Amino acid sequence: MHSSVNGTVSKIVKTAHLSGAPKTVIEISVTQPKEPVAEAAGPQKVSATVAATVTPGVSTATEAASVQKVNATVAATVTPGGNTTAEPADATEVAEEPQEKKVAEPENEFFPPLNPKTATKEELLERIKEAGIVGMGGAAFPMFVKLSPPPGKKIEKLIINAAECEPYLTRDYRLILEYTDQLIGGIEILMKITGVECVIGIEDNKPEAIVLLKNKLGSRSDIRVEVLPVKYPQGAEKMLIYAITGKKVPPGKLPVDVGVVMQNVGTAISVWKAVTEGTPQTDAWITVTGEGIKTPKNLIVPVGTPISEILEFCGGLTPEAIKVIAGGPMMGTNLYDYNAPVMKATSGLLVLTSDTSAPVEAIACLRCGKCVEVCPVNLLPTRLSRFSKLQRFEDAEEAGIFSCMECGCCAYECPAGIPLVQWIRLGKKELLKIKAQERKSA
Ligand code: SF4
Ligand code: SF4
Repeated sequence: MHSSVNGTVSKIVKTAHLSGAPKTVIEISVTQPKEPVAEAAGPQKVSATVAATVTPGVSTATEAASVQKVNATVAATVTPGGNTTAEPADATEVAEEPQEKKVAEPENEFFPPLNPKTATKEELLERIKEAGIVGMGGAAFPMFVKLSPPPGKKIEKLIINAAECEPYLTRDYRLILEYTDQLIGGIEILMKITGVECVIGIEDNKPEAIVLLKNKLGSRSDIRVEVLPVKYPQGAEKMLIYAITGKKVPPGKLPVDVGVVMQNVGTAISVWKAVTEGTPQTDAWITVTGEGIKTPKNLIVPVGTPISEILEFCGGLTPEAIKVIAGGPMMGTNLYDYNAPVMKATSGLLVLTSDTSAPVEAIACLRCGKCVEVCPVNLLPTRLSRFSKLQRFEDAEEAGIFSCMECGCCAYECPAGIPLVQWIRLGKKELLKIKAQERKSA
């Protein structure tokens, strides 16, 4: 079992380029099934212990593995769905030296380091743009766009999302503990660009990280730590904005429409590295976890690293492993090809076993209303999924399908095992295709 967030956790280790990792950034979509099926993606029914932690609206407990940098060459390949026994050939954990908050000696200098204190806002923003920094919270939205509000919009608050986005994932927690100075340095750069104060939103199951941040920040009033109850999906952008500001982002609108710009912990650290080290964003910070992986870890891996090599680096799959999910149990995507690469926004790899992932045969809707009860944005998931299934996409749009944040709570709760969020996701994709087609022919 992994240690809990409140327990002892080990140091961060970084991967050098694994044997098959490309030297340049590659972004390739993971193959998706054409039709949504119960197991295709989204919420996974997990063991009783974990299931109890992800009930919407109720406290959750995430698990913590270490965040690690890795130097490894992995000899064996992984057969999807199968067990692997090969060990990394030369796995080496590299102890991190504590770093001062200063302009660091660059490891891989692509751009000249900038001094964040003397660089202008324009220089800092340009660096973020040229370093290719995107949000690492899931959407991979280009950061310089977020930091450049359109005319008429004004950024009034910067929020750092330190609430782990899904159960099982612990990378942000470890990053706060091990990269505290770089995180605060990145936040200061973002504050300089936006000219606003910052709130760090963090869940109360990370007491060590909360204490550390508060100690580091001391009596500063420009960066505030706001401790929030653990509640899935607290880490979702719109939910966190509401929890901190009381403002609701309207359907189809962006946080900047309510004066907020939000970044996650890893993104802020990437900003620090891009500015002070001249390093482009070529690494992903990921949690590798689940009962089906032999040695769970938090890793920093080069973007483009084949997932098979990361699984090998973590000791391979246990004999009970039945599926690997890119992301977390609620919003992640089943992997069908373990040679798929890690991408910038990959948050984790979750390996489930037959004990922790129970495939369910969908039956007809029971009209129990549970999906409606748990939807955090007050949608009617059963209606949306039905419209999507019937290809009544315009009706689905009218019913608010684009307000769905794909949190998976509805499908997780559905006693009939209906893949609600998968149908909703499909409906959104189809609608976007229709709209693109309309724009083309206009
Ligand atoms: S409809 Fe969307 S937002 Fe509502 S519970 Fe389902 S997945 Fe979450
Ligand atoms: S939770 Fe499932 S069974 Fe209940 S109303 Fe919603 S779709 Fe129907």
